[in-house]
Amino acid sequence: MTSAQKLSFDVQHNDHARTAAEREQVLANPGFGQTFTDHMIMIDYTEGSGWHDARLMPYGPLSLDPATSVFHYAQELFEGLKAYRQVGGSIVAFRPHANAARFNRSAARMAMPELPEDAFVESLELLVEADKEWVPTTEGHSLYLRPFMIATQVGLGVNYPSKTYKYMVIASPAASYFTGGIKPVSVWLSTEYTRAAPGGTGFAKCGGNYAAAFLAQRQAVENGCDQVVWLDAHEHEYVEEMGGMNLFFVFGNKLVTPELTGTLLPGITRESILELAGDLGLETEERLVSVEEWQEGCASGELTEVFACGTAAVVTPVGSVKGEDRSWTVADGTPGPVTMRVREELVGIQYGARPDTRNWIHKIL
Ligand SMILES: *Cc1c(COP(=O)(O)O)cnc(C)c1O
Repeated sequence: MTSAQKLSFDVQHNDHARTAAEREQVLANPGFGQTFTDHMIMIDYTEGSGWHDARLMPYGPLSLDPATSVFHYAQELFEGLKAYRQVGGSIVAFRPHANAARFNRSAARMAMPELPEDAFVESLELLVEADKEWVPTTEGHSLYLRPFMIATQVGLGVNYPSKTYKYMVIASPAASYFTGGIKPVSVWLSTEYTRAAPGGTGFAKCGGNYAAAFLAQRQAVENGCDQVVWLDAHEHEYVEEMGGMNLFFVFGNKLVTPELTGTLLPGITRESILELAGDLGLETEERLVSVEEWQEGCASGELTEVFACGTAAVVTPVGSVKGEDRSWTVADGTPGPVTMRVREELVGIQYGARPDTRNWIHKIL
């Protein structure tokens, strides 16, 4: 395919789709990322001929040679976004072109082929249309979409990136991250491990970043915390991210978020909050934030709230912080008003309760 040609998708419906009753049973209690819909998207790539064989097909397992390169060298990346059923009944996505652009920035870093943005967005539309009955109607629930790409060349040669790839999209109904009210999380400052270093893959949404993070996340739990907070690789002093979410520090009516140094994942929720802040009468600043400033700000009362943000949980208050030799609470440890206001605004736009003045809502159905 040349870049001017449009991919056309072959549509193969699932003859063994689950019944309405089976689906309703899942939708009554979907959890997160546990059950998948009846279809999936697949597009193949071959060096020289480009993307080909785009199709919507029944959801099911893959058969891959054990020597397939993704299993050995982790040449892989992914995206995450949601389809929402809005108050008027339409099904929409939130800024899917931003996910497409990030997918391609990740691909460039991982020496993988870029997918035309329109093909990325069309693949999401096709899957959501085919599985529209799986988009929950319950307030706060959504259909989580997981596009990803894997290297499929067979062989253990390590000197070159794969010459073949598979792009896929799968979908899973998701409950609201918080069942039974917004609960602040406790965080563990990881000084033993590092998520990302300058020149590495921190800004790319690749599985390898997560594989390297699990041990620190386990350590956070062993220390009685919910989530790990990553610090810079060099000094272990500047705050980068919390697990798979970006962080915001609230100083009165100013939102401060760690600047994108290349080691942070540039969250679309983060970027959206920076753009929305003005509407809510909030100032913003992107800069380095040290652990010392975090602790001292909480002690002096200047730092009034801290929250994390990302597609899965939208906006999550951070209530307490613990490190090797210190621990403190953020204000009184309960969700603050700025956190809740930002959350309400974003969720409002996504579900159609608030006006979409920036054209962020992409109507699918
Ligand atoms: C996906 C992700 C985020 C959040 O990005 P959103 O686009 O807001 O969902 C933040 N940090 C990491 C490490 C991530 O993988």
